Amino acid sequence: MAGGPTLNAVSIEQQRRLVTALPGPRSRELMARKTSAVADGVGTTMPVFAAAADGGIVVDADGNHLIDLGSGIAVTSVGAANPRVVAAVTEQVAAFTHTCFMVTPYDGYVAVAEALNRLTPGSHDKRTALFNSGAEAVENAVKIARAWTGRDAVVVFDHAYHGRTNLTLAMTAKNKPYKHTFGPFAPEVYRVGGSYPYRDGVVDGAVAAARAIDQIEKQIGVENLAALVIEPIQGEGGFIEPAPGFLPALAAWCRAGGVVFVADEVQTGFARTGDLFACEREGVVPDLIVTAKGIAGGLPLSAVTGRAEIMSAPHEGGLGGTYGGNPIACAAALAAIATIEEDGLVGRAREIETLVKARLTAIRDKDDRIGEVRGRGAMLAVEIVRSGGSEPDPRLARDVAKAAHGQGVIVLTCGTYGNVLRFLPPLTIGDALLDDAFDVIAAAFEEIR
Ligand code: PMP
Repeated sequence: MAGGPTLNAVSIEQQRRLVTALPGPRSRELMARKTSAVADGVGTTMPVFAAAADGGIVVDADGNHLIDLGSGIAVTSVGAANPRVVAAVTEQVAAFTHTCFMVTPYDGYVAVAEALNRLTPGSHDKRTALFNSGAEAVENAVKIARAWTGRDAVVVFDHAYHGRTNLTLAMTAKNKPYKHTFGPFAPEVYRVGGSYPYRDGVVDGAVAAARAIDQIEKQIGVENLAALVIEPIQGEGGFIEPAPGFLPALAAWCRAGGVVFVADEVQTGFARTGDLFACEREGVVPDLIVTAKGIAGGLPLSAVTGRAEIMSAPHEGGLGGTYGGNPIACAAALAAIATIEEDGLVGRAREIETLVKARLTAIRDKDDRIGEVRGRGAMLAVEIVRSGGSEPDPRLARDVAKAAHGQGVIVLTCGTYGNVLRFLPPLTIGDALLDDAFDVIAAAFEEIR
């Protein structure tokens, strides 16, 4: 796919174009209304309101064309108005919007479960349950693991992010903005050190895993542990790729001790990292895998998929919810999955990696405030540090992001230290837009001192 995917189905002109200063007058008006109507706790990255989006472009309320390097936080991998998703949703919404799968079930839910059972790592017998958000699915994975093992404890890692509900806040590492003032949090969640080669200097994943396992055995005891929950590449914590061997060693230890190994692939799943699922890169087969975000072309849907015997541990009626596996979201998921498979979006994610990493490496070669370029596929980042060392520099990350925003490039920050610029373009973005976006970012690094 030289030059990127064929975008003739995309209705929006794939070009960055600013027709007002950002934010424009219409966005300013809407922001004033937001301020008086929406709770302050709900922040926004940019003070710019969206009117349309697809391919690699978000059009704002004033008609500005912005380059999308965020995908609504890794969601719209197939585009934000993918024609197949739009057609499937339109057909389903006209047929029926909801009956509740727990009342009168429908085939879309079953078809999504079949697709997930087929596509997720491992050829064993699997079952799936559907939910609405990533956090809700993570909570259900913990419920299922507890029901299966009869044990209580859950292990999570430094820099982890698993959501904002009460149990998942206990599992999420970072205090501000997520946890501050919101406790007390659910008990029996234990945090151990993970693998962060850039900062801990341990490049042998087996060594990092042995350290974590020692901590678990000393402080919790394998016989008390229901589940180990881990992001194969940590997302909100800073796009941290563990040292090779770390995930396989943890998975093997879990298997030996009867601990359920749960891969939280909410952010990494569905082609984002240049594999359909990030676990595949090292051949790790999780007992349970949690998916959301990229699964359904922008509609809210999440899933827990895993070994049939573990998934079947909860009693009938023990899993569910009014909206879980909503028929419109399921129709969107089937269309998104077909797009990923038929349009070769796993390969496209790898092409994006090649292009973007070359651009980021070129910036790093001239600027030692980029401590590391990392990530896989279309989940890439730079960790920003003070010149001459490795002290995190969140101010520079914020300033570069702001400069990009001002030029019409949507870019997000993340990281425990707030010093990581992350890049999550839709997989349907074209090369020309990527080049334009990274020209803007390179210029921002040159201008801001
Ligand atoms: N797990 C991971 C790894 C995530 O990145 C996220 C969202 N950023 C969640 C869970 C929570 O998903 P949601 O916001 O849909 O609840």
